[in-house]
Amino acid sequence: MTTVEPKTFLKDSVAFPFCKGCGHHHYVHNLDRALSSLQLDPKKVCIVSDIGCIGILDSLFISPHTFHTTHGRSTAFATGVELADGILNDSKLKTVVVIGDGGATIGLLHVVNAALMNVDVTVLVANNMLYGMTGGQNSGFSPLEFITPTTPEGNIVPPMDICAMIKSCGAEYVTSISATDKNLTTVIADAIAHPGFALVEIVELCTEFAIGKNKIDGKTIQTMADQHNAATLPTTFKRKEFCEEYKSKVLGRPLKIKNDALTQKYISSLRGSRRWVIAGTAGEKVQLSSYLLMRAGILCGLHATQKNDNPVTQGSGFSLSEVVLSADDIYYTGIDVPDVVIISSAEGLKEVTVNGTLSRSNNQTVIIMEDSLPEILTPAKMYRVPLRSLCTPQRATTSAVAAFIANELMIPLEAMIDSIQMHVGEKVALYEEDIKKILPLLS
Ligand code: SF4
Ligand SMILES: [Mg+2]
Repeated sequence: MTTVEPKTFLKDSVAFPFCKGCGHHHYVHNLDRALSSLQLDPKKVCIVSDIGCIGILDSLFISPHTFHTTHGRSTAFATGVELADGILNDSKLKTVVVIGDGGATIGLLHVVNAALMNVDVTVLVANNMLYGMTGGQNSGFSPLEFITPTTPEGNIVPPMDICAMIKSCGAEYVTSISATDKNLTTVIADAIAHPGFALVEIVELCTEFAIGKNKIDGKTIQTMADQHNAATLPTTFKRKEFCEEYKSKVLGRPLKIKNDALTQKYISSLRGSRRWVIAGTAGEKVQLSSYLLMRAGILCGLHATQKNDNPVTQGSGFSLSEVVLSADDIYYTGIDVPDVVIISSAEGLKEVTVNGTLSRSNNQTVIIMEDSLPEILTPAKMYRVPLRSLCTPQRATTSAVAAFIANELMIPLEAMIDSIQMHVGEKVALYEEDIKKILPLLS
């Protein structure tokens, strides 16, 4: 039987920078012993540290990868490291987050998210109940009545129980332990060995700021750890480590590739570009009409762009779309002077007025506007068409686009009909009827 000599991951004769009696001494020694006891290849260990006194820890280690991050974000970085390794590399890296209660307070959602994902990250929270490095301020983990520079009369906000919280996220290895507990090495080693998310709350003392004004000793700390251990894991979760789950359920699934590529079938006589603005009411397929126009252009070998606009509310108010069709490359997708403007409703008219489309129109612009809307002053060539009653509001803009194409003849109408049919199938006949009704009104 071969015996592997225990080795240290720490630098030779390293002097710890922590204050005398600080619990971080126990944390560092026990983490080192745990890593050694697991006999891990140092190249397969990544220590990700946070801001705070405990964050200096990474400079004490020599052989594993170490990664010092911004305050509260260490678990997010570690999750990224683990995903990259677990999905792209599969080298079974063991990633350990070194974080204090301050960092865990600031970056709590990162810890929650890693626990929900069950990514193979071990978070070791050094809970000394305050922000040690910045002067002992109250943290989200400070007990009730705790006296700190920011709670001189005693803390009145109850502390979070990170163990209960993280257990509620389905994490399977969650425990709280005193920094002086003789089992700490084993607990840390078991957490690191656990194939999935693990969290160990290591309750300890900041000798610089926690004692003196607070009655806190080993017994208090042990009681706190015991209470935090009492929370039980909900039974609703069935866990599998995230990278394994991702590889089997996402990467393992055959890719569904939708082949909707368009190849040129028609020839357009368009030279230069045509710039369209189509405006109407949300929910009346205004942006769909632009999409179908754009695809008709592509069927003719033209370059095409589409830009949509609507209010934040998405499903109410105006809906507007701009389409550029061009025989040449399109380097600018904006529309200064529109060539064609289609307006199917009062909301659309208001928007093209407000956004300057109408004021930028000139005598080369053609406007097709719903007949029931009020008169507008414009140098553009204006056609008033009862689009809503002739075609229904849902088909108004698409049929107006198709009728303009049929009238202008620069793009074959067949290309637009083809584009509509690809989307609506045999209902294309309704659009063909609409076009017949609109065409006489465009002469
Ligand atoms: S300030 Fe507190 S947490 Fe920081 S090293 Fe000193 S005792 Fe430890
Ligand atoms: Mg702290």
